[in-house]
Formats: sequence, C-alpha cells, structure tokens
Amino acid sequence: MAPSSSLSQGAQSTPRRVVVKLGTGVLTTGIGRLDPARIAGLCAQLARLRATGCEVIVVSSGAVGLGMGRLGLAKKPKEVTKKQACAAVGQSLLMETWQRGFDPHGLTVAQVLLTREDLRARDRFLSVKATLAQLVAYGTIPIINENDTVSAAEIEAMLKFGDNDTLGAMVAGLVEAQVLIILSTAPGLIDMKGTGQIVPVVERITAEIEAMAGGTTSETATGGMISKISAAKLATKSGCGVFIASGAEPDIVQRLLAGTGPGTFFVPSGLPLEARKRWLAFYQRPAGTIFVNECAVPVLRDQGRSLLAIGVTHAKGEFGPGAIVNIAGPDKRVFARGKSGYGSEEIPGIAEKRGDAVAALYPQRKRLEVVHRNDLVLL
Ligand code: GLU
Repeated sequence: MAPSSSLSQGAQSTPRRVVVKLGTGVLTTGIGRLDPARIAGLCAQLARLRATGCEVIVVSSGAVGLGMGRLGLAKKPKEVTKKQACAAVGQSLLMETWQRGFDPHGLTVAQVLLTREDLRARDRFLSVKATLAQLVAYGTIPIINENDTVSAAEIEAMLKFGDNDTLGAMVAGLVEAQVLIILSTAPGLIDMKGTGQIVPVVERITAEIEAMAGGTTSETATGGMISKISAAKLATKSGCGVFIASGAEPDIVQRLLAGTGPGTFFVPSGLPLEARKRWLAFYQRPAGTIFVNECAVPVLRDQGRSLLAIGVTHAKGEFGPGAIVNIAGPDKRVFARGKSGYGSEEIPGIAEKRGDAVAALYPQRKRLEVVHRNDLVLL
C-alpha cells in the first residue's frame, strides 16, 4: 500500500513520488551499444515501485550516446552542433528502448524534453508541472531528457542544464519528489582519502564531501561525481532525499529504498531534528549492530536518553566511528538505529565501562556517548 503522508514528515519508508535519473553508462555497454538485460532489470524494478502506488518519473540520458552508436562515431564529438545531431538521432532510439522495456509490465512511457528556459519562466514551469501530473495520472512513466537539439551553442550557458544530474534535481524539485535516485556506473561517493569505502550517508554537503568527488572519464558520460554532488545539494535543499548508487547492482532501487544500499544517501537539509533522524533511520544500511544490556533498553526507549558505554555489551559487524548501526537488546531484537561515536574495534574496550573509565581512555573526546540522543531514532 502506498503511504499517504510525506516522507519528510518521517512517517514511513516508502516514498510517494520518486525521480530516478539514469546515466548513459548504466543503459549502454560501450559506445552507443544498449545493454538490454540491464534495461529490462531496471524497468522491472521501476514497475515494481510503481505497483506500490509510488509515482515514478525517469530522467534518462543516453540520446547522445545512442546517436553516436547509430552514426558510427567512436568518439564523442567536440562540436556542439554534432552533439545536438547525435541527440536527435539517439532520442527516438532511447524512447523506443524504454517503451520496449516497460511493455512486459503493461506500462506506457511518455517523452518529455526540457530546456532550462522551460523551468525558469513561471508559466512554462507550471505548464510542465501540470503536464507531468497528468501523465502520471494517466498511469504513464514520464521519461525526461534535456532537449539537447535546441540548447544551442551560443546560448548554451543560459539554456542548457549542462548535465542530466542537474536536470534530475530540478525535476525532483518541480514535482516535489521525496526521493531522487541517481544511478550511474559509480557505486556511490567514495571516501578516497579515508576509508576507501562508499560513504553511506551524508548529512551535510561540506567542502570535504565536495573534495571527494572526481571528474568523469568515460567517452559518453557527462557529469561525473562533481555534478552528482551539486545535484544532491540542489535537491536536498528542496527537502528531497538523494541516493547515488550503481545502476548495475541488482534490485538497486528496492534495496536503496529499504535502506540496505549499497550507495550514498544525502539527507534533506533544513528539517526539524525528528524528521532528520527518521531519514537517517530509514535510508541507509546499518554497518553493524551494537548490543545493549537490559538496563539500557528502557533508558533509550522510554527516557529519551543517549546510549552510554555502561549500557553496551558488545558489537557485531565492522564499522568505523560515525557509522550508522542498529541497536539491539539482550533478546537480539533491533529497536533503534543511530550513529555510533565509536568504531567496532573500540567497543570491546569501552563496553560496560563507566564514564570516568571511558574518559580516561579517550581524554581528547568531548562527547563520550556511544550514540548521542540527537543521532538516535527508535524504530
Ligand atoms: N542529455 C544527454 C543525453 O541524453 C545526457 C546529458 C547527461 O548525461 O548529463 O545524451
């Protein structure tokens, strides 16, 4: 059943409206060569999401890439006019591909091509919004792309979105989506300087986060991680949660929405604490579990307090400080989720220790809580 209230109210984990942005690299195997198995898998996932009552809007790249393939070009042309011509050739192939992918699910696609100008002028913005709403009401899956053929060179800076990541974020704002899922060949935001792993959750896009993004290297791709982060910035500002994940992962859409990843989740900004905490709880993959003793359960559940070392018995899984973890009682039942102040390797050293003993072990730390109340949500 589809939930009725907005996710930003934090009431449930199934969003009402989702924008899914797909990069050229997800839909094709090489230059201009479609990956039918991948596309069939994605259509099945989107159809399943649609069947839950969630409205699904797709932003699809691939027109230029497919056009290149059809025209036999091995390299992406530099000249804008040539790229525009490729897009004109590829766009119809792209739509044909999507329709074929959705046919087995009885779904009809609808092509919507936009320029930046279309969203800037208020009357056009409202008209696009109304048309999208009507397309969704008709039960179709709108497939949006930039109208590359008319976004001409001289006026490029003014008219072009530049990349479909930005377009995806603007569409998410336009339709007031709760979630934007950006699928590309990148598995998520990787912390190259630190853990070398996917950053599971980003609460605020800081300069440090932006520094983790590198440019794109593929022949057909446009944006790379930099444009994805700036799209995430745009979308989270309008209250939309954003996932960046690999479209090659099986069942990725359902797994992301179930909070099991893999991928990076960007929490919408400017939310009240409770709503933000719920986002934290629903949309990420807990890296492990911290088990607490009998006394700690009511303290966390009924008294609204933080989890202290004295209440912790042990941890399962490997995680670093700052990871999202499940919190379970002695009966092994998970009843809360939160951000751990300690890594899994540190837990045995502090488990069931009093505050002064923990303070002696970590004299530099200002916050000694294992999970601070502000980072903890009951499930
Ligand atoms: N609109 C371009 C295309 O369909 C893609 C731009 C992008 O991927 O950012 O090929």
